[in-house]
Amino acid sequence: MEGSFDERLKIAIPAKGRLREPAIELLEEAGLGPEEPGERALAFPCRNAPVEVLLVRAADIPEYVQDGVVDCGITGADLVRERGAEVSELLALGFGGCTLQAAVPQESRVTSLGGLDGMRIATVFPRLARELLEEQGIAVQIVDVTGSVEVTPRLGLADAIVDLVSSGNTLRTNGLRSLGSLFSSQAVLVGGAEPDAAALHLARVLKSVVNARDTRYLMMNAPESALDLLTRLVPAGRAPTVLPLAEPGMVAVHALVPAADVWRLLPELEAAGASSILLVPVERLLG
Ligand code: AMP
Repeated sequence: MEGSFDERLKIAIPAKGRLREPAIELLEEAGLGPEEPGERALAFPCRNAPVEVLLVRAADIPEYVQDGVVDCGITGADLVRERGAEVSELLALGFGGCTLQAAVPQESRVTSLGGLDGMRIATVFPRLARELLEEQGIAVQIVDVTGSVEVTPRLGLADAIVDLVSSGNTLRTNGLRSLGSLFSSQAVLVGGAEPDAAALHLARVLKSVVNARDTRYLMMNAPESALDLLTRLVPAGRAPTVLPLAEPGMVAVHALVPAADVWRLLPELEAAGASSILLVPVERLLG
């Protein structure tokens, strides 16, 4: 049932940057029917659910959720930690993956994280960098910058940097060498410290999509004699469904399998005697 405007669940998503489109796509796939936002739109409603989407700066989302300006938000786990906001992480969303890494110029004599002790570290994540290094007993002097972190060692402003990395290309291009990862991040759905029923409901719906993306439904026929071997090949966790076929001695085996295992699994199943192997996408998976 449609609520009045004020009863709508308000969710904040990044207005720009690499998390914007995947966030809208997730709402679309979850069936909320987000209205196509114009480039300059600040908010848009959803056709199929009493949900209002607000487009704001990714870095502001943790505070907006904490202060109750919105009911929940999608942003990077790194930003949630950096802001130290009192929010609850309702769901890891499986996109926007990256790691916060410490790096030094190629020619630096520092070869490990421990070697950073007492050094000047440039970062746009002052709180997180200090916290994560301190956890390892490394005390540093933070140089708080707002961008172009990679050039700070060359400018003599810092001895090392702490920054987000996904492929490592930016580090290499700027003559930097990674000393290792401090924190793994991805996009997350966050709600208030005590999220209400509507936010938890949204988390369940999004979870069904996130789970489904990583999963495929496998169907195959096989002689009953191959069943033991086949069920051993299919990843444990969920028992496969076994159905009799019209042909005596033959069965159909159905199972949910991790998408990441498929490349390994299919030839193994065929070699074990499976035939008519079908693999189909899963739209939703919950429980
Ligand atoms: P953007 O608005 O595009 O700068 O991205 C903001 C968020 O995207 C970051 O806070 C991270 O959570 C995520 N992200 C994923 N990969 C990267 C990357 N290689 N560099 C920066 N941010 C990334």
